[in-house]
Order: sequence, then structure tokens, then C-alpha cells
Amino acid sequence: MKLILLGAAGSGKGTMAKKISADFGIPQISTGDLFREIVKSGGELGEKISSLINKGQLVPNELTFEVLKQRLDQKDCKNGFILDGFPRSLAQAEMIKDLFDVDAVISIELPFEELEKRLVNRRLCSSCGEIDNINYEGFTGKCRKCGTKLFQRDDDKPEAIKARLEVYKKDVTPLINFYGDKVLKVSSSGSPDETYAPVKTFLTKLEAKA
Ligand code: AMP
Repeated sequence: MKLILLGAAGSGKGTMAKKISADFGIPQISTGDLFREIVKSGGELGEKISSLINKGQLVPNELTFEVLKQRLDQKDCKNGFILDGFPRSLAQAEMIKDLFDVDAVISIELPFEELEKRLVNRRLCSSCGEIDNINYEGFTGKCRKCGTKLFQRDDDKPEAIKARLEVYKKDVTPLINFYGDKVLKVSSSGSPDETYAPVKTFLTKLEAKA
């Protein structure tokens, strides 16, 4: 299955991608994660990308597409994948139109005020990628899976958050119409398991049809 996951920062998109990846055996391809890897490895390109990400701005389309294409060419993507963070605009959707057929698009939805609250309180594990929130029960500041100290992403600070949500509203909303009846809309106002239940049912049926 070749899937696209839409959802603003803080919607729980990354968490859903991990659950889908585990249940359906397809890799989660996050353009944000690919960029953060490039930033970590340093160099001029890393610095350029880092400065854009920290301001909450998008990386240019051509560069994003190149990075994505290289990742999709790898063996583990042969039987499908779940795209997390791409496309983020109609222009990007056009770029992948001839690359593969999209089987379904899952749109994770939550009001913006709620997203802002979740994002400032979001904390991540640098070691295993686990996502937590200082308001969740039992939060200790350490990863629940591997015990590593959690950190806050630079673009999860208030100014960058506002910029990211504005960009999302303007550019990603038109994608819902673009993908038409391939889209499943799911509210993430409940727990991760509640959000995931209808997604799993939908994808199980889709997989059985294929
Ligand atoms: P994310 O982890 O998906 O929130 O992405 C973090 C940052 O990476 C974004 O704020 C952008 O600066 C950059 N980025 C990720 N995906 C894309 C994309 N599809 N197009 C352009 N920039 C992206």
C-alpha cells in the first residue's frame, strides 16, 4: 500500500504513521526526519536546511523531492510506504503524481488552538523517536521506551509553531480536494488508540481488496 498521511504538526500524525508502519509492515517515510538526518550530518546543506526548519519555513520543493525520491528508491519501499510530511502543497502533490499511484490518504484533524497547546508541550526521544507530552499522565522527562532524556524540537517553540500552522492551513487544505474520494478524515481529539481504530479498519479493508 502506498499511503499519504496528512495532518498539521501536533495532530498525532507521526504517532499514527508508526502504528500503521508496525501493523501493515510498510516503512514510515518522514521528510522532516530525512531533513533532520541531513542537519545532523552537518555541512553547508545541513546548515541551510537547519535555518529553514528552525524558522518554521519549508525546504524548497526541488530539494525536498530529490531527498524523497532517493529514499523511495531503497529496497524497503518496494511493497509500499507511508508518506509522513509529504506532500505539503499542490505543487508537491503534482511532483509525485507520475512517480506512483496513491492508494489512500489519511487526514488527521484537530482544531488549531488544540494543536498549538500540544506542540509547545511535545517532547521527543533523540534515541528511538518516541513522542511524549508533558501533560500526559506519568510524564517524567525520560523516554518511556528506552529511558533516554527527552528534548524539545527548536521548531516546537511558539513563534515557529505559529508559522508552521499558518503554512499548513494555506497549503495542505487544498490537498483534501486534490485526492478526493481517496481521503479518510479522522479526528485526533481522543487518545492515540481511539484515533487509530478507524484508520486500522479502513486500511485492513483496503489491503484485503488489493
Ligand atoms: P515535520 O517533522 O514534518 O514537522 O517537518 C519539519 C520541517 O522539515 C518542516 O517545518 C519543514 O521545514 C521541513 N519539511 C518537512 N517536510 C517538508 C516538505 N514536504 N516540504 C518542504 N519542507 C519540509
